[in-house]
Amino acid sequence: MDKIALVTGGTRGIGRAISEALVKDGFKVAANYAGNDEAARQCAEELGISVFKFDVGDFDACQAGVKAIEAEMGIIDVLVNNAGITRDAMLHKMTREQWDDVIRVDLTSAFNLSQAVINGMRDKGWGRIVNISSINGQKGQMGQTNYSAAKAGLIGFSKALAQETARKGITVNTVCPGYTDTDMVAAVPEKVLESIVSSIPVGRLGKSSEIAACVSFLSSDGAAFITGATLAANGGQYIPT
Ligand code: NDP
Repeated sequence: MDKIALVTGGTRGIGRAISEALVKDGFKVAANYAGNDEAARQCAEELGISVFKFDVGDFDACQAGVKAIEAEMGIIDVLVNNAGITRDAMLHKMTREQWDDVIRVDLTSAFNLSQAVINGMRDKGWGRIVNISSINGQKGQMGQTNYSAAKAGLIGFSKALAQETARKGITVNTVCPGYTDTDMVAAVPEKVLESIVSSIPVGRLGKSSEIAACVSFLSSDGAAFITGATLAANGGQYIPT
């Protein structure tokens, strides 16, 4: 197979596991990252993939980044919008900067990158876009009005784009991970984490590889009839109807 996949935030945590799974599936993978050069270098070396540093929240940087990837590797077939950040605070204490940062990196990024790759996919008549949302975009989470809004926004974005692109052989789906064992969760205070784990019916945090398995399936030819779907992978912590 000579299909190309771009995984944003693909050098650490869930994104790295997604990069690894897509390599195993036979994709040529480009992993994007923001600033952690050492993690990117290690990831590139261990997985044998190319890494590209640019800010997914910056429209022009995304256009230039996709151009550079396509010049080096070819037209992108699979886009995984995975890069994300948190800037938690209760609304009454949240700064405008905390709000803006999360909306641009976690939501506007999906617009920036989907727009940069969509014409290539439309021309080919095949494409896969997988957006990584969150359990907290489905159920809401106190202290995360910015993050919950951005992640819920990704679900609506995916449903709308799925309808626009279905006739062109492009599927657009969302995966909503529950709490997963990465650096992002390592930042959660221990006591809070204990109470989170006790509320997960499966009785543990998710593994990055378990989220990656969802993306791997949704990126496959076998998933061609699934579009606009929202897949919860959260150990039963929240079961939407
Ligand atoms: P990590 O913090 O472990 O990794 C984040 C990755 O995103 C890094 O590669 C980082 O690059 C990159 N990144 C961050 N900001 C930007 C930016 N502006 N431009 C380009 N790349 C950027 O995150 P996780 O693996 O935990 O999370 C991955 C996704 O899954 C996120 O969207 C998150 O919201 C979502 N999620 C995570 C959950 C969890 O429990 N971990 C639960 C639910 C959803 P660099 O290394 O250079 O900093």
